[in-house]
Amino acid sequence: MIIVMKAKTSPEELQEVLDTIKELGYQPHIIYGTERTVIGAVGSERGKDKLLALETLPGVEKVVPILQPYKLASREVKQDKTIIRINDKVLIGGDEIVVIAGPCSIESEQQIIETAAAVKEAGATVLRGGAFKPRTSPYSFQGLEEEGLVLLDKARQVTGLPVVTEIMNPGDIDLISRHADILQVGARNVQNFALLKTLGKCTKPVLLKRGMMTTIEEFLMSAEYILSEGNMQVILCERGIRTFETATRNTLDLSAVPLLKERTHLPVIVDPSHGTGHWKLVAPMSFAAIAAGADGLMIEVHPHPDHAQSDGIQSLKPDKFFEMMRRLELFVKAAGRSWRAAS
Ligand code: PEP
Ligand code: MN
Repeated sequence: MIIVMKAKTSPEELQEVLDTIKELGYQPHIIYGTERTVIGAVGSERGKDKLLALETLPGVEKVVPILQPYKLASREVKQDKTIIRINDKVLIGGDEIVVIAGPCSIESEQQIIETAAAVKEAGATVLRGGAFKPRTSPYSFQGLEEEGLVLLDKARQVTGLPVVTEIMNPGDIDLISRHADILQVGARNVQNFALLKTLGKCTKPVLLKRGMMTTIEEFLMSAEYILSEGNMQVILCERGIRTFETATRNTLDLSAVPLLKERTHLPVIVDPSHGTGHWKLVAPMSFAAIAAGADGLMIEVHPHPDHAQSDGIQSLKPDKFFEMMRRLELFVKAAGRSWRAAS
């Protein structure tokens, strides 16, 4: 249920509503909007009608059911879009388009620092790089793990770019949180509910990738797992789904972007590298993603893709990335969004 508070309510009135929601066995989540405060009361569907009694409390304007199965993620509960602050310079979900770029895997100090400097110069404002890699084969490169996280710290120090890296295991949360500005949940872990619940208790933003077999509703339910534990900083990432098509690695579902933007207040970004699996398709699908309303992009860049330990075929060389970013600016402007000039 959504409890809509009157435009002017005292802190005592708000507290009484929160206490009553808890007494009724539900969990209150306060959402401060630009015009008024609403409270999402989340819990069992059975017996939720007893929450209607809250309408008798002073300060409450109305109590309305949330129709979607995802509650805190829905636009019904929060109409204003969520803008996530990564550091003092980078916001995701605001007017400005954010480009996250870097190698699939962190391979060496030279590789990550060279790539970080190149993507920064081209205008990216967040660095990506995997230290713990979810590989289809146990014989493939699994990532540099902790050593990779230390290299990521160095790249942040040198360039000032905040960093995003993947977490696969709930037990790694303290370690990875010490090094990362954003924690990434990969497509293969989108329904790892133990991991999602653990991330819901942490204070870092989470970049949640759509699974290759998850529907939009399942994707939003996964986001709900994180939100319902208290972490409201979730960025959704469309990265392609599995279809009968084999000419591309995945089928990049760009219709998911406007659909998600309609159903949720959370920011939505697109990863055309995993979405297509081919570096030549990355630029056109990036332009299309911006046209579809994405808040940003995540792109794999490698100085020597032919020697990359993972995903070389879909990685752009720095000069191609630079060229793509230059052209992207036109699409960003056409979409009515803002763009930070390259440094
Ligand atoms: C990645 O970002 O390198 C990655 C493994 O992506 P996904 O989980 O989308 O396959
Ligand atoms: Mn990759």
